[in-house]
Amino acid sequence: MPGESLEVLGAILESFALNDRNWPEIPFAKLDLTKLVRALIVQVMPNYAKITMGLFAALMTACSQQVSSPIAVHTLTVPVASAETPVPLFPEATGGAAPTRSPVTMPSPTIPASPESFSIGDSLENRPIIAWRIGTGEHIIVLVGGIHGGYEWNSVNLLNELLVYFTENAAEVLPGIQLILIPVANPDGYASGRDFAARFNAAGVDLNRNWGCDWAETAFIWDIPIDPGDGPFSEPETQALQAFFLLVQPDAVIFYHSMQGAVFMGDCGPKHPPAAWMGDLLATATGYPYEEFSIYPVTGDASNWLAQVGIPAATIELSTREQTDFTINLDGVIALQCHFVLGDDYDADPAAWQVCNKVVNDE
Ligand SMILES: [Zn+2]
Repeated sequence: MPGESLEVLGAILESFALNDRNWPEIPFAKLDLTKLVRALIVQVMPNYAKITMGLFAALMTACSQQVSSPIAVHTLTVPVASAETPVPLFPEATGGAAPTRSPVTMPSPTIPASPESFSIGDSLENRPIIAWRIGTGEHIIVLVGGIHGGYEWNSVNLLNELLVYFTENAAEVLPGIQLILIPVANPDGYASGRDFAARFNAAGVDLNRNWGCDWAETAFIWDIPIDPGDGPFSEPETQALQAFFLLVQPDAVIFYHSMQGAVFMGDCGPKHPPAAWMGDLLATATGYPYEEFSIYPVTGDASNWLAQVGIPAATIELSTREQTDFTINLDGVIALQCHFVLGDDYDADPAAWQVCNKVVNDE
């Protein structure tokens, strides 16, 4: 499957099903078409027959034609904050600049000086769900904050602090890595306040009970019944995230919540066990315990669905409802990069080792 076909696929995919979204320059060569088709059939088709038929037709067309003519890849749209947009589109980390670490010299001319941003879709109230990309490597790590809106606002602050940090310390996005940060997955909830009601989207749905693994009509947080939506992926925010994950096929995803102070790994039944290596790695780097979530049954969870489609996904619960736990979570993200770039052979790249070694020293 030549790369050109995949570019065409991307263009067709947008025109078919996602025509109101502005996709970034996706690393199409990274796409595993077989995996994508399987995910579409298994996960999406039952819910969006119309959309999926379009996607499926597009995939088949791209596969059969082996198109080689160049198609313009969509240019990035840099969102412009306006008075009507209460959600901060560019990082506004509280307390000014993000914390700094000791400087590391690692020349890397391929890393862009500033992050690129794009919208992966709109919320129910038409707020864009903004993603920021730093680095151009083949290994894609996606970090997501604010799926529980303003109620877990410190997860948004953490994402903004990480965005500022990696922008100012671009050498710490290792060669071979592409970091994509989605600070506010639930922009309507984030804009609506900081109380419990701000956890949900504008329809009152809990966006972390709206995914396809073990979705249930009756959902809970602790013993409080909450609305999981009319069905899996009934909400526009969940649909946008789902489509984005299926398209970019990340190597790893972390969702940040508060406030259990622990790492949990997504899983979905015996066929889709948790990526224990990632739980162990994040626990070692951050100091949060890696635990199995057993406090109450969680249905329709995002990380569990990602596990179901073969993407390792963690839920990191910050320690409190206010703090960002910035330093330890930065260590977690760097450790994850080290895993993909260096594996066990940290000596392979002395410059990268220099960065990774800081995490090792912190352990
Ligand atoms: Zn949460």
